[in-house]
Amino acid sequence: MNIVLLGAPSSGKGTMAQKLVEKFNFFHISTGELLRENISLRTQLGMVAQTYMEKGNLVPDELVCKLVEEKLRNLSKDVNVIFDGFPRSIVQAKMLDAICKIDKVVNLSCSDDVIKERTLGRRICSACKKIYNTRSYSSLSCQACGGELISRSDDTLETVTKRIEEYKRQTSPLIEYYKKQNKLIIVDASKDIDNFDFLFSKKGGKN
Ligand code: AMP
Repeated sequence: MNIVLLGAPSSGKGTMAQKLVEKFNFFHISTGELLRENISLRTQLGMVAQTYMEKGNLVPDELVCKLVEEKLRNLSKDVNVIFDGFPRSIVQAKMLDAICKIDKVVNLSCSDDVIKERTLGRRICSACKKIYNTRSYSSLSCQACGGELISRSDDTLETVTKRIEEYKRQTSPLIEYYKKQNKLIIVDASKDIDNFDFLFSKKGGKN
């Protein structure tokens, strides 16, 4: 089963992906993580992507699609994949449909205020990339590996405001796109989600 996690920045896509990987052994593809890896390795793609990411804009479709195509090319067809933060535009969704069968799409829905509060409190382990929030975890080191917790450079109020705008303009049309394909499940992302039965029921709809 291949799943797409849709949702605004800080709606909890990364946290849900981590839980699904731990519980069900999915293979996790986060385009945000792949892009950040490219930035820290100072690849050509990373240098171009950075100019978009630091402003809160989406990276051009062709660059992100290339990254995902490369990842999928080396993956066995039997592996179940979670796409976290991909697709983020109709162009990307069409490209994904052409190379991979998507079974379910989870839209994590929450208010702009919750998104802003979560973004400003988000901390990431610099070693294992586990995600925390200062609301529920005040330590400066990772519970899982002891690594240092850091803020993402794009988790500022100015950037998140732009990222929310980009989400509404380019990504939210995907809700309708996947609804028409009868794959959409809407989840209230203002709550902690630990029960994933909704992924395995035959129907789409609200959780
Ligand atoms: P994320 O880690 O998912 O919050 O993504 C961080 C940033 O990476 C986004 O604000 C975009 O600038 C860029 N990005 C990640 N995924 C995509 C995508 N599918 N399409 C375009 N840009 C992306």
